[in-house]
Amino acid sequence: MTETPLLLTPGPLTTNPAVREAMQRDWGSRDPAFIALTAELRQRLLGVAHAQASHVAVPIQGSGTYVLEAAVATLVGGGDTLLVLINGAYGERMAEIARRMGRAVEVLRWDERQPVDPATVAEALAGKPQISHVAVVHCETTTGILNPLADVAAVVASAGRLLIVDAMSSFGALPIDLRHMRAAAVLASSNKCLEGTPGVGFALIERGVLEGCKGRSPSVSFDLHAQWSGFEGNGQWRFTPPVQVVAAMVEALRLLEAEGGPPARLRRYEANLEMLLRGAAAVGIDLYLDRALQAPIIATFRAPENPAFRFQTFYDALASRGFVIYPGKLTKGESFRIGCIGAVTPADFQRLASVLGQALAEAGV
Ligand SMILES: *Cc1c(COP(=O)(O)O)cnc(C)c1O
Repeated sequence: MTETPLLLTPGPLTTNPAVREAMQRDWGSRDPAFIALTAELRQRLLGVAHAQASHVAVPIQGSGTYVLEAAVATLVGGGDTLLVLINGAYGERMAEIARRMGRAVEVLRWDERQPVDPATVAEALAGKPQISHVAVVHCETTTGILNPLADVAAVVASAGRLLIVDAMSSFGALPIDLRHMRAAAVLASSNKCLEGTPGVGFALIERGVLEGCKGRSPSVSFDLHAQWSGFEGNGQWRFTPPVQVVAAMVEALRLLEAEGGPPARLRRYEANLEMLLRGAAAVGIDLYLDRALQAPIIATFRAPENPAFRFQTFYDALASRGFVIYPGKLTKGESFRIGCIGAVTPADFQRLASVLGQALAEAGV
């Protein structure tokens, strides 16, 4: 068997061996030891965003999209209207989730190379009193663009509406401080910047907001109020939890703290991105976004103009050298993406840089 490749993707990611090791034992889901582990998980998740005084942490089984769906179902009621701010595929997905659920949805769209504009959001809110909730994607993983979360949050709070943040690809690295920013719900998952294994989504929800959401969800499984009541009642998950994934996630959160928390993790990811961009520039591969808009999470590159270029061959050439990259997700133009997150360091991107030229040559360029 070949060595495990490095996953330079938006998740699942390369994990620390200690995280994978934590999955090597079984846990009784209703055993006191696992109840304690769940309590530690919920407490640590609040700590990452400094939300202990204001929010509760509600994990749910599934991928990130499952918690988006559960949050919309739980928070946005039949008489409410959700405004979704869209500059990529994940914004579109949030709107689709709400529409399918029969919720009233409004959208504001920007080009995928432009960040969401808080002033436009303020105008829309002033003109549409029926909007009760606003959803924004912090880092739009489609391109890797960073949206101005704190400014959007300020606009939404001053208009007296509730903000739902898809922080899937930012939570644990990019700054989210709920002592200084109002957000009704912040949503993320185990397998992105937290560097855990896939299988758990979670929501940090303002306690007062969640208290008002009893019975609102039209779904039994996707009901974060009921899920929370379960945790508060007996400390247990309502339905079978992915026990090994939870154990790995707690270990990943301990490692995040040991690394120095989100600021230290962000510095490592920024160093990864710098090294990646240097390597790409050296072989003439261009970043798709303006550098100032590119978050150190996942970078989108334009495919080489050369008509001989074949992405699949390029992908295979890198994979055979131990690097798994990611296809592009742009609506127009050929592109590919390389992630900076996970248990990877600038040294890994230096090694990547040393093989990019060969891989391009194999791919016809
Ligand atoms: C990864 C991601 C999701 C959720 O994706 P899953 O495949 O369901 O885990 C949602 N929003 C953003 C911005 C993401 O990066």
